[in-house]
Amino acid sequence: AVKPLNAEPKRNDMIVPFAATAIAPEAEDYEQLAKDLENASPLKIMDKALEKFGNDIAIAFSGAEDVALIEYAHLTGRPFRVFSLDTGRLNPETYRFFDAVEKQYGIRIEYMFPDAVEVQALVRSKGLFSFCEDGHQECCRVRKVRPLRRALKRPRAWITGQRKDQSPGTRSEIPVVQVDPVFEGLDGGIGSVVNWNLVANVSGVGIWNFLRTMDVTVNSLHSQGYISLIGCEPCTRPVLPGQHEREGRWWWEDAKARECGLHKGNIMKNDAANAATVD
Ligand code: SF4
Repeated sequence: AVKPLNAEPKRNDMIVPFAATAIAPEAEDYEQLAKDLENASPLKIMDKALEKFGNDIAIAFSGAEDVALIEYAHLTGRPFRVFSLDTGRLNPETYRFFDAVEKQYGIRIEYMFPDAVEVQALVRSKGLFSFCEDGHQECCRVRKVRPLRRALKRPRAWITGQRKDQSPGTRSEIPVVQVDPVFEGLDGGIGSVVNWNLVANVSGVGIWNFLRTMDVTVNSLHSQGYISLIGCEPCTRPVLPGQHEREGRWWWEDAKARECGLHKGNIMKNDAANAATVD
């Protein structure tokens, strides 16, 4: 059941242009800030991020247990924005969940859609399931990475749900805050977008304990064996007890290629030579 909040919905208030007043990344020593916040709670880091960037920061929401980020933002009492990539291939349950989250928190999620011409060209030339034959990179590039690039041209910072325990091969060293090594910001240029990975040091178990404690509504797919990383319907499957959650993504491919490109910086840092490149 959706847990109603007392606050009045401010849907349209949330969808306003990003202000160009945020602190330039180069003006802050984010390596030092990451060290200072390494042992801080996710709530404290979220509060810091929202305080610093105001309307110029957005939570990247995938429709999975990263709803914890929205709950943390809500708990700060500060206004916040949420965006999501609608690839057009998500599960029906995820769309329902998006709707429930909007109602629960009184927000409008700012969806980013793929370019219709690019999707049309891909599907007409290679069919609807090309990723099963020649890898997921091309489809992810069209449906996820390019829309994310467009999304990140606007805010100066984004908040991710990346955790070290999600992918020991590619996410084991992510700091709680960093200048994004891949995506370009409004000024055009690497180094103008800041990532806040406030649950980097939290385990999957810790996230779920938080969600249960706070009685947060979650995606109904979780009760069907989807532990985390719920992505597109054709490319995500439930995992068995004891299997790592990443086993449920692109299982027909080599394990090292199982990043969609949204967090390519992790791959570049960890294994530039062998990793799949996306875009
Ligand atoms: Fe395409 Fe699968 Fe990537 Fe979704 S996860 S964008 S369907 S390859």
